[in-house]
Amino acid sequence: MNFFLLLIFLCCSQFVFSQKMKGNLTEYIDSLTHSMPKVANQGDYQSPSKETLEIWQKALENVYDQNQEKTEEYLNEIGYFLNIFEDSTDQKLYWILQKQVNSSNHWGTYVFNPKASRKNLLISCPHPHHDRFTEKEGIFIFKNVQAGMYAVAGAERCNSTNYSRCSGKTMVCNDETEENFRISDLAHNSHSLFHIFHEFFNVQKTDLLVFQLHGFEKKKNDPDAILSNGTKSYPKDLDYVSIFFFHLSEIDSELTFKIAHRDTTWNRLNGLSNVQGNLMNGSPHPCTNLAKQASGKFIHIEQGKLLRGNKNGWEKITQALQQTIGENTELAPKFSTETDQKSVHLVFEKSEIIGVQIRNLKGEIVFEKRAKHWDSKKIKLEQGIYFIRIQNQYGFTNQQITIE
Ligand SMILES: [Zn+2]
Repeated sequence: MNFFLLLIFLCCSQFVFSQKMKGNLTEYIDSLTHSMPKVANQGDYQSPSKETLEIWQKALENVYDQNQEKTEEYLNEIGYFLNIFEDSTDQKLYWILQKQVNSSNHWGTYVFNPKASRKNLLISCPHPHHDRFTEKEGIFIFKNVQAGMYAVAGAERCNSTNYSRCSGKTMVCNDETEENFRISDLAHNSHSLFHIFHEFFNVQKTDLLVFQLHGFEKKKNDPDAILSNGTKSYPKDLDYVSIFFFHLSEIDSELTFKIAHRDTTWNRLNGLSNVQGNLMNGSPHPCTNLAKQASGKFIHIEQGKLLRGNKNGWEKITQALQQTIGENTELAPKFSTETDQKSVHLVFEKSEIIGVQIRNLKGEIVFEKRAKHWDSKKIKLEQGIYFIRIQNQYGFTNQQITIE
């Protein structure tokens, strides 16, 4: 691997550590996740103090404002540094927030892409190594879908022997008895840099979508993937899990699925006590209060090895995500809908060449047409829930409607 170290110490009134590097982003992040503590019960992961989390929050505010100097100052206070990384494959500058080499703060690695085409998408990877290959899969997807943010935990989930205060029991770190989750399990500990990262971007971006990667050992009769929105209910707003499922099953029709809110008798690996899920679904206390309803803005995917174990699987997930979330949302078509008992009336904000596609709840395409300069369009539909996708030359916009 060739990484060029262009600049190390910047000197202000005090020493502020930052770096500018050039290389292959996915290879570089792989090298960082490869060197994290991977062994259970070793206690490398230590809980950050409350003050550390406050400083982290300030650092994130400055990342969002793209204030490099301030970001560096705050990160330095907590044993982290800002690495402005130029990726040699796309020449873009990625902001990597990573721990200093000699620091034992194994709190995770975070990437921000200021020029992302899917700015509101956060790829989340809480169980590196334990959910084998998800850490490599995560950065691959982040890069290839051009998501705005990437978060990967800094230690294996069972690394600490201390217990999280958050709800839920597990046998994942101890196969003899059920116990609380460990503090190093960042999908079950809201007192972490990882969780604050999700919380921060959820406040900044009302349309944030979190795509969280997991892996499981497939037993006989298990599906290839288990999808969940963090609850067992249908979301009131856009049902991203279902849209993602339609696309992934079209990309590979042999894949099998269970979906928490669609296959309600399925009771394993649904991610129902996941604290980022609770957060995205609007729980006022994500650590202890399970979400009561679904927002649709959380996709939790448990994958067998077929999907997470190699590039072929990662590419399928990437393509399905690209079909699920539009890019360049500011240029994508804007439209409003009015429904009555037998139809939907689409009203477009401006006249342009567009494609209209409507799917029913099963994912079947019930209407598809491409047209020049539609201002509005009335389409007959039977009773039910529908997903409407309007496309122009820049991207697409999804909307969900119900015909009563
Ligand atoms: Zn997991």
